[in-house]
Amino acid sequence: MQEKFPSINKEPIDTLQINIGYKCNQACKHCHVNSSPLRTEKMSNEIISLIPKIVDKYNIKTLDITGGAPELHPEFKNLITSLSKKEIDIIDRCNLTIFFEEGYEDLPEFLANNNVIITASLPCYEKNNVELQRGYGVFEKSINAIKMLNDLGYGKKKNGLQLNLVYNPVNPILPPPQEILENNYKKILFEKYKIVFNKLYTITNMPINRYEESLIREGKLDSYSKLLKDNFNKNNLESLMCKKTISVNWLGEIFDCDFNQQISFRTNKGPKTIFDLMDKSFNFNYGIAVKEHCFACTAGSGSSCGGALT
Ligand code: SF4
Ligand code: SF4
Repeated sequence: MQEKFPSINKEPIDTLQINIGYKCNQACKHCHVNSSPLRTEKMSNEIISLIPKIVDKYNIKTLDITGGAPELHPEFKNLITSLSKKEIDIIDRCNLTIFFEEGYEDLPEFLANNNVIITASLPCYEKNNVELQRGYGVFEKSINAIKMLNDLGYGKKKNGLQLNLVYNPVNPILPPPQEILENNYKKILFEKYKIVFNKLYTITNMPINRYEESLIREGKLDSYSKLLKDNFNKNNLESLMCKKTISVNWLGEIFDCDFNQQISFRTNKGPKTIFDLMDKSFNFNYGIAVKEHCFACTAGSGSSCGGALT
């Protein structure tokens, strides 16, 4: 069993992930951000206004917008329209149920008009499993949201509007092989609900924050940590998402990935804030902050915000 997570180094970045606020219309059991409708933290307009400048300065190829429900940030739409002329992929990590909140009915059309990639959580094609993790009524709303997105053209063509779904296990196990599960999802969701999507991303649950607490309550933290270590796969080290990504929190502080951000874990190397990124120039060649939870990214087929690694 691999006991200590190996040292890994940052590389020149191509992805900027920003968490623009912790407020969410849901409060899922596995949420590593501890989001809920009661959270009030949100990125300032001053920091939001720096994002397009950072995209230009560091030649960012992908802007990955997350939260909470990022769409609840009052500047969400302005941020996207300010980037619309740039040659970048914009990802909205969308929970799908947000489309049914009052005042957000026009969101699907807005996202389609701006060619935003939608990455949405749907941890199972079975209603019970989804609602166990994400709350009562979430499954039906998610299916209806996907129908709306399909009507706008999402999920239909390889090079058209992209709708990707995210699977994470309901129980403390590793995800099944991504390709096989994607085929099952596509078959069952089309047969039952006539809905389509582009890719399925399998993500290993990260034993931090709310998910760690639920593992502790169930007495399963040690066995889950052992499972992650027992399945350490060194082939995943090469493509870990933290190598080419920086993750910015609502205060503008910089971390190696969204998970490190959620546990406020970083080294003293590299840029500390988004203001540093503007004031100086960085070439991102330093050690990444790693510890125990990182084994979730290297176990089995690997895991990242873009799904399996190998
Ligand atoms: S929808 Fe996403 S951000 Fe909101 S509580 Fe659930 S997992 Fe957390
Ligand atoms: S949690 Fe994963 S992505 Fe984050 S630093 Fe550790 S290995 Fe990298």
